[in-house]
Parts: sequence; structure tokens; C-alpha cells
Amino acid sequence: FVKSSVIQGTQPEDDSDQEDIDAKDILKRELQDERKTLPIYKFRDELLKAVEEYQVIVIVGETGSGKTTQIPQYLHEAGYTAKGKVACTQPRRVAAMSVAARVSQEMGVKLGHEVGYSIRFEDCTSEKTIIKYMTDGMLLREFLGEPDLASYSVVMVDEAHERTLSTDILFGLVKDISRFRPDLKLLISSATLDAEKFSDYFDSAPIFKIPGRRYPVEIHYTKAPEADYIDAAIVTVLQIHVTQPPGDILVFLTGQEEIETVDEILKHRTRGLGTKISELIICPIYANLPTELQAKIFEATPEGARKVVLATNIAETSLTIDGIKYVIDPGFCKIKSYNPRTGMESLLINPISKASANQRAGRSGRTGPGKCFRLYTTYNYMHDLEDNTVPEIQRTNLANVVLTLKSLGIHDLVNFDFMDPPPSEALLKALEQLFALSALNSRGELTKTGRRMAEFPLDPMLSKMIVASEKYKCSDEVISIASMLSIGNSIFYRPKDKQVHADNARLNFHTGNVGDHIALLNVYSSWKETDYSTQWCYENYIQVRSMKRARDIRDQLEGLMERVEIEICSNASDLDAIKKAITSGFFHHSARLQRDGTYKTVKNPQTVHIHPSSGLAEVRPRWVVYHELVLTTKEFMRQVTELKPEWLVEIAPHYYQLKDVDDSGTKKLPKGHGRAAL
Ligand code: ADP
Ligand code: MG
Repeated sequence: FVKSSVIQGTQPEDDSDQEDIDAKDILKRELQDERKTLPIYKFRDELLKAVEEYQVIVIVGETGSGKTTQIPQYLHEAGYTAKGKVACTQPRRVAAMSVAARVSQEMGVKLGHEVGYSIRFEDCTSEKTIIKYMTDGMLLREFLGEPDLASYSVVMVDEAHERTLSTDILFGLVKDISRFRPDLKLLISSATLDAEKFSDYFDSAPIFKIPGRRYPVEIHYTKAPEADYIDAAIVTVLQIHVTQPPGDILVFLTGQEEIETVDEILKHRTRGLGTKISELIICPIYANLPTELQAKIFEATPEGARKVVLATNIAETSLTIDGIKYVIDPGFCKIKSYNPRTGMESLLINPISKASANQRAGRSGRTGPGKCFRLYTTYNYMHDLEDNTVPEIQRTNLANVVLTLKSLGIHDLVNFDFMDPPPSEALLKALEQLFALSALNSRGELTKTGRRMAEFPLDPMLSKMIVASEKYKCSDEVISIASMLSIGNSIFYRPKDKQVHADNARLNFHTGNVGDHIALLNVYSSWKETDYSTQWCYENYIQVRSMKRARDIRDQLEGLMERVEIEICSNASDLDAIKKAITSGFFHHSARLQRDGTYKTVKNPQTVHIHPSSGLAEVRPRWVVYHELVLTTKEFMRQVTELKPEWLVEIAPHYYQLKDVDDSGTKKLPKGHGRAAL
């Protein structure tokens, strides 16, 4: 590493403030004392005065200054919660949960009572809740039931700099309601200094700066680019552990898989070193990490040991972990990108922006001088990194928000008050897609189907699949499938020493080449038959936790079915009916087998492949519908089911013509393929 620059910071002054002792609750008192050591504490009164005076304020403060945990409590203490709830939005579910847990501790109340959180499929709030942490997507959905947010007195849009799609839409909506709800206070808070832009957007709202507490951070770069950043990160962790003074390490990785790999390798290598080195405590943190493990990153490191936190972008600004002295930044993150022409969305590993790199470095200098090891060169930093990340609204499929906005009665999307407008091509594509799904009519108005779809907190394709299940009388099966699909990729597990057993267990659910959707249904139904047995999950190499989550989601979908008045009926023996319901939602995702054994998507032809984990990977039916595309070494279709081409024309006549599904060109198929059991 070459030491190249030092970001100078200001030293904090010591602030000790003794409080009367309340013997009742020692933990609470300790936490109350801790609250007063946060940088924001000195600005408490000034901040409250500003809130009183202005309707909208932009708040800027270094990560860890106390914005997220303290401001809602200050507002509560100042009486705002007597007039309505305080909402605080977070772009990430883990952040919403973790911060709510912390604040409930600080206030000495049970999580879910006065302080709660609401994330998709998990509502941990009650009648009593006055401070509500929630994902930005959930607040967006609250507009559907309460268009003026009448039950809220303050809305704090936190982590505004992240510029997620939901946050950007929220900006427009809260700005709009603030005009006819002068009593509603709006706080826009951000960890970065692009506050001017927020202020301009909110009609020159005043900017409140919380001076950061930042110690100097030494930045080190590699001399040459790293061929394998995972390996480089592991080596750097071990080097720091062996050569550097005490202090915890934070490593930024791009996702769960990378984190698990690094976790495993680190465990293996440190085991090899035995007692020659001090203990290294490895703590992963990512969105799908089970709740009980999430708290581990906040536990104090025992004397003599060192903690290494393996985190996704979540630790960049959303979560503050105390005690970090060393940051390892490989310079990458997963970013969604969208091609409005083809309608294809993909999650790709991309270089981060300079703004991100600086945020990451800053994480090491919060409680003392820190060091940041960038696994790229100074040249890379200067010339290859963009200044800022492009807002999500400009690189994503907009069908979901367009449907939400339409349900809110916002028809003129082109003139919606976007902070940065989406590409008009993407808006158009979203309208087209919703029209093809029959959610909108030809005048762009919401249909009955569209209104029903909007009730589900799911992607339009999934909600359409559910709504269509009414017609095919298989809603019972389809909501099970939808719940299983919503879990993501963590249903089956495959221990290294039992891979054959695990694979056999998995194949059992695919008997008859039913396709992956029906296989998921088989898993769910079989589990239900055993009365949700944990033992059964073990025997079948299925993650109990994921199944329980699927059951939770399914319960909620069942509730929503009642709301949209779709009866739950079962049609388990008619697989074609179930597949037609799936196709009704996912007909955009159809592909046809080619002579060379690859697939081509039917509209906007692109070469794709069946993911090796699919039950149909070897079968290769001639026509398939898939749940999603993932790009790893190739474009893979994940969760694949066979379909009959005539269904496409029958189900989506606006989208497919007979010529699209003409089969005559594909006579010479590879032997043995193209004929799965339908
Ligand atoms: P900001 O929003 O300005 O980045 P926060 O309010 O999130 O700051 O953090 C303030 C302090 O609260 C930090 O010292 C952080 O370590 C602590 N904190 C936040 N969440 C938790 C948690 N779940 N457990 C323990 N400490 C936490
Ligand atoms: Mg925060």
C-alpha cells in the first residue's frame, strides 16, 4: 500500500454532563448518558427551534452524529408525537429494524410498542406506536391508505443522499402534501454535502448542519490494480490483524455470497494460525441476515480480540458501528441497471463513486484516527470513479411506482415534480408494460385489475399472477408460489459434505419435470402437510427460517386477497391452470429454445440460458417462462417453467401475435430436448 493522503478532521471537545440518578433502570440511564455524548446533542435545542419555525428543513450531518436515532426522540420529547406519529424512513430494511431496536432500548420501551418499525411483510408496530421507523417503500405504500398522511405530525426522510427510487418518489409526494398540511413537518436528512440540491427542490428550505466528529483518516492505495479483490481483502484483513494496533475492521463487499465466501476463508485461515494470533471475531451483515445475528455487529469487542465486520453497502451510511479503526474498500458494489429498450433489468457489480469511497473511508475515523485501505490505485480513484452514483430512478424499471402513482390518482407522470426526472423512454416502457398486464387501459387509466394489483406490495408481474389466479381458480397454489418466490434464493441449502444428498432431496420436488414454480409449490405444500415440521426441513435440506418467512408472507397475501375480494380456491391437480396464471403475470419473460441449445427471449431477442440450479436445466423444454434474469458468467433465467406457446397469444393478445409464437422455424432441435412433460 502507498500512503497517499490524510483527510483532516476536527477533534471533538469533551462533553460531560451528569444527570440525576434514576436507580430504577441502569441500562436506560447508561444509554441516556451515551445519548448526550453524540455530536447532535449540542444542537438539540437549536434544531427543535428550527423545526418549530420552518415547515421543511434539510439536515446534514456526518454518519454517526445521531441523526437517525436522536432526532425522532427529540421531536417526541418536544411534544410532536402528541399531535401525530413521527415517521423516519430508511432505504434499507435492516437499518429500519436495527435503529428501531436501538431507540426502543434508549427509551426503555418494548420494541413494537411506542417505538416500532415497518418493513415489507413485517409490521412491528401497534396502536401505541409514536415513533415509526420504516423503509421508504413502506411510507410510499401508506399514501395509498392515507393520502395526506393525517396520522403523522413529522416525516423525516432519512438517508436522502441514497436517492433510492422510493425516496425520490416520496420527495414529490411529501412536498405536495406539505402545501395543504401546514402542520406537517418535513425533515430531509442526509450524510453528504449535496444539501443545496435538496434545499433548492424544497423551495429553498433552510439547511441545518451538524458539524461532524471526524478524526483524520489515512488513505492507502494499492500500487497496482488487484486481479482478485476478494483475495486481496482477505489478505489485508489478516495483515491488519497481525501487524496493526487494536481496533476493529470493516470490509465492504457487494453481497451475501461474497460475504459468506470471505467469512468461510477467514475462519479457515485463522484456524490454521491457531493461538499464534489473537482472536478474530467475524461478523457478517447484509439484508437477509437473520435478525438475531444482526445485533452481533453492535456488541463490544472483548479485550484482546479484534472484530472484523463484513458488510454490504449498508455500513456505508445506514448503520454506524462503533470501534471501527480500519476500513477495507475493494471499490465495488452491486448496482441495478435497466435497459428501457429491452425492458431488462440486471444487478451488476460496478465500481463505486468517489462520494461512496469517501463515505466508506470516513467510517474508520469516527472514534479516533483511522486507516482506510483502498484495494485500487490512486489513478483508479482519480480517473475511473464517477463523482456520484446515478439516482436509482434513472436506472430502474418504473412499472411498480407508475402503478402506485396511478393508484394515488396522479395521472400526469411527465409533469410529476421529480428531483431528477427518469428517462422518458423508461416511463413509456412502464406504461406499456402495465397496459400489457391489463393494469391500465388504452387511455392510461387504472383498470379494476390494476387497482387490485396495486394492493399487493409486490412487483406488478407477481401481483398480476396473483390476480389472474382468480380466473384459473388456483389462488391457493399461486399465493404459495408468490410467497416462495418472494423469499429469494435461500430455500434450499447444500452442505459441502452432503451435496449429493441435498441435490437428491431437491430433485424429489421436481418429479415429472413440473418446473421450478411448481417445485416451489411442492416444497410449500409438503411442509404444510407435515404441520410445518422443522425436522422435515432438516431432512430435505430446506432452510426452516426461509420457510417460516414464506408462511408469514403467505398469511399476509391471504389477507390482501380478502381485501381485493378474490376467493382462495385450490386447483392443485390442474398444473396447466397454475402455469397459465404464472404466464399471465410473466408473459414478458418468455423464451424459446434455439438449435444450439441456448434460449432466445421471444420479444427483444436476447440469448439466455436456464440456470444450472433449475430443475429444467437438463430437460430444456422448447418454450419457457422465467421469473428473473441474473447475469453471472452468462444471462441466466432463474425459476423456469414450461409453457405452451399458444398460451402467450391467448393470455396477452396485445403483446404477442401468432407470428411471435410460430414454431415452424425450430424443427431441428437438439435430440432429446424440447419435450418435457406438459
Ligand atoms: P446517524 O444517523 O447520524 O448516522 P445514528 O443515530 O445512526 O447516527 O447513530 C448514533 C449512535 O447510535 C452511534 O454511535 C451508533 O453506534 C449507535 N447505534 C445506532 N444503532 C445502534 C444499534 N442497533 N445498536 C447499538 N448502537 C447503535
Ligand atoms: Mg442515520
